Amino acid sequence: MEVVNDNNCSWVNDLNPRNNIKTLSSDLNCEWLIIGAGYTGLSAARKLGQLYPNEKILLVDAQLAGEGASSRNSGYLVDTTLNDGFTSNKELSNYRKKADIYKLGIDTVKKFIKEHQVDCDWNECGKYFASSNSEDKDILENFSETLSKLGFEHNLLQKDNLSKRLGTNFYDIALYTKGGILLHPGKLVRAMIDTLPENVILYENSLLLKWKKNNGTIDCVFKNNSIKTKKIIFATNGFLKSLGVKTNYNFPITLTASMTRPLTDKEFESIGEPKEWGVLPVRPMGATIRMTKDRRILIRNTAEVHNPYQMSKSNLEKRSVKQKIGIKKRFPQLPDNIVQSTWSGIVSRTRNSSQIFEKIDANIFAAGCYNGSGIGVGTLFGEQIAIKASNEHTNEIETIEARKKPTWLPPQPFLDLGIRARLMYERLRARSEI
Ligand SMILES: Cc1cc2nc3c(=O)[nH]c(=O)nc-3n(C[C@H](O)[C@H](O)[C@H](O)COP(=O)(O)OP(=O)(O)OC[C@H]3O[C@@H](n4cnc5c(N)ncnc54)[C@H](O)[C@@H]3O)c2cc1C
Repeated sequence: MEVVNDNNCSWVNDLNPRNNIKTLSSDLNCEWLIIGAGYTGLSAARKLGQLYPNEKILLVDAQLAGEGASSRNSGYLVDTTLNDGFTSNKELSNYRKKADIYKLGIDTVKKFIKEHQVDCDWNECGKYFASSNSEDKDILENFSETLSKLGFEHNLLQKDNLSKRLGTNFYDIALYTKGGILLHPGKLVRAMIDTLPENVILYENSLLLKWKKNNGTIDCVFKNNSIKTKKIIFATNGFLKSLGVKTNYNFPITLTASMTRPLTDKEFESIGEPKEWGVLPVRPMGATIRMTKDRRILIRNTAEVHNPYQMSKSNLEKRSVKQKIGIKKRFPQLPDNIVQSTWSGIVSRTRNSSQIFEKIDANIFAAGCYNGSGIGVGTLFGEQIAIKASNEHTNEIETIEARKKPTWLPPQPFLDLGIRARLMYERLRARSEI
């Protein structure tokens, strides 16, 4: 098996290619090993590098660092999410715990970009939960009540107002939240790579095949060589399950997204020259759609059970067609051939939308499963799991550990059957929103 990514992602292609890529080429021993160099692994490595300036910390990824989901996402750094079904008081307190984690996630990313003067197209413009189906009004009104109880600034918007702000007549109703940031995910994760402490050694294109505990060390076999480590942190998110980590609690889901080229002045004028915006769906399987700072339109409207290691060109093309239709439905006045790239990425899900953050055995730690909201939470969890693995405690760890824990999943083949049935049902419910 190999993690094989398409090389079509616009966010990645916006960046300068990196040089000095090191691949594992001999057997090594270390104190600390982190597997996976996305937001979680990079953040864990940065923290360990600061905590142990005199120790060698190894960070290994199966592909180029940051080029998994961490640069392939839609770039919403969220403070709140919908679709969690929180209604009763008990659920309200769980929602608050979740939102507390999102807030810490935003603070962690903010601190990083301030400290390193990172330009990642940061825009505190809030976000819309929008629908073209007026029947979704009830869902949004319930959500509005939850947000009011918790003190999140927001307001409900109707069609006229929305079409002025978004440049499309597609949506009938939306809830706008003032909180939430839009950013360039590729620029953010690249900055995390560029600013790794000097004692962190990054090995790329080095797939971990298997690992086992062995008399006080953890022995890891990679495609070419092996590493013996005293402590390990698994930060492979959608690939935790395939490495045998918390297998009964998480499963991978493949998402695909497309991005247009920048709109020309004339095209931009034809949609009313809106400011940068981001729309999230009201129903889980609806489209996420974004107008970027540089006038590109991004759409993500698929989520499915698929081989996480690779999506073929022809399969990607089929999903691209769906995304072109999604753009056309919202912007019929724009030409047909403006999509510049389509890519896929892997996220990790749990049954109850809670995250994994734990010591899974002596000297073995894992963080992941952000259920599609990993920019902030991944950055936070990476930093904090490194602190936890160092036997230290923080208020952040207390907040993270107060959340609901992921619940147990049924074994195969029931799991796949159940997920597929659920996704099909959600797809049907959201069919007007794709
Ligand atoms: C299309 C899409 C849209 C999304 N939109 C948003 C959004 O708007 N906002 C948001 O917050 N989140 C979003 N997400 C989710 C977000 O991208 C993830 O939650 C986040 O990237 C998780 O970071 P991570 O570091 O834990 O995992 P990843 O970024 O997946 O990094 C894990 C790394 O582990 C490596 N790895 C896997 N297996 C092995 C192995 N065996 N050996 C060595 N290395 C291995 C991989 O190569 C990968 O680089 C989206 C994701 C996708 C795909």
